[in-house]
Amino acid sequence: MNSNEIDIHKELKKYFGFSQFKGLQENVIKSIVGKNNTFVIMPTGGGKSLCYQLPALIQDGTAIVVSPLIALMKNQVDAIRSLSSENGIAHVLNSSLTKTEINQVKKDITSGITKLLYVAPESLTKEEYVQFLKSVPISFVAIDEAHCISEWGHDFRPEYRNLRTIIKHLGDVPVIGLTATATPKVQEDILKNLDMSDAKTFKASFNRPNLFYEVRTKTKNIESDIIRFIKQNKGKSGIIYCLSRKKVEDIAEVLQVNGISAVPYHAGLDAKTRAKHQDMFLMEDVDVVVATIAFGMGIDKPDVRFVIHHDIPKSLESYYQETGRAGRDGGEGHCLAYYSYKDVEKLEKFMSGKPVAEQEIGFALLQEVVAYAETSMSRRKFLLHYFGEEFDSETGEGADMDDNVRNPKVKVEAMDNVKK
Ligand code: ADP
Ligand code: MG
Repeated sequence: MNSNEIDIHKELKKYFGFSQFKGLQENVIKSIVGKNNTFVIMPTGGGKSLCYQLPALIQDGTAIVVSPLIALMKNQVDAIRSLSSENGIAHVLNSSLTKTEINQVKKDITSGITKLLYVAPESLTKEEYVQFLKSVPISFVAIDEAHCISEWGHDFRPEYRNLRTIIKHLGDVPVIGLTATATPKVQEDILKNLDMSDAKTFKASFNRPNLFYEVRTKTKNIESDIIRFIKQNKGKSGIIYCLSRKKVEDIAEVLQVNGISAVPYHAGLDAKTRAKHQDMFLMEDVDVVVATIAFGMGIDKPDVRFVIHHDIPKSLESYYQETGRAGRDGGEGHCLAYYSYKDVEKLEKFMSGKPVAEQEIGFALLQEVVAYAETSMSRRKFLLHYFGEEFDSETGEGADMDDNVRNPKVKVEAMDNVKK
């Protein structure tokens, strides 16, 4: 099929019910349908899934989608199945399937019903699966969360490093990489590891003009400072990120004692409690969730009004992802981070047990966080520059939305000098 013959707007409406593409979707889809290797960099919520789902649905053959998390794959498969009367249109292939289920998947692929096959990277290393996939028509391979391939990304997964070799076994199929991590280093790594320097690259802006960025010095009064902040934002939903489980528990308790409805969330809680606390937050039975970074993956609450970092994050990508959970609906989102150099030393000490190469990367990423916390320039400009994006701090969208721009430090110092 040829991209000119298909009316992709009509197909968008037919399958997804949307009348318009979002951002760069249309161009991405044309690139994929045109059989190009394609690289897509879009912030979370930008609509990356549709970029490969629609081309898969309208082309011959099966598209393989590599994704790191089984839970997210299942969600996507359910969502795709709900668009069609044909259950076999999408499948997950993983180690939890029975022999009968695997045979059904193979049957649906062979008969051309299956348009999307979701696989975890470790499943793709199974010789049996690779042999089978070699024998059927594959439209393309999409690699979601492609930053997992890079040690410079925030979620490095060694299994991702084998993907290129496996894909080559499948023959000459286009490869689509997708990520929400925009640092130039990670991008380079992805292109290199997937051997797709020829890829057509589509990068959306990472600017979130409705988010307000602020850094406060962390003092021993941090708890009363947070309580005051939350009380000033009464009734609004917010997330507080802490480094350790213990801190999560402590802060949640302090908030509760002070009459703030808050629940803890971390990987040390049993699955039932975690699910309950997450639901309480989503259903607005509580205003605040105090959490480790275990909280947030796949959470889509549109009206989170603040994200507080009790402890500094380990990288600016993490910071961007975590603060990005605020203001999804386009409304206000206050991103407040507490910073003390002691915390940096603590993180460095944590890392000192790790292999040297990992330590070096960890330190370098952390130094960028320090620079962000200590900068007196536009925080938005700083963040976007880190993602390889130019931002005009005078005329750009959201230019006045940070503490440094609102209250320039230099000017305050200058005023002090005048007074003296
Ligand atoms: P990402 O993977 O980039 O984080 P998703 O693929 O999960 O983003 O999409 C985010 C949301 O955007 C989903 O709810 C999806 O249904 C919605 N969406 C995607 N494309 C469109 C579109 N063209 N029009 C309206 N909503 C869209
Ligand atoms: Mg996604």
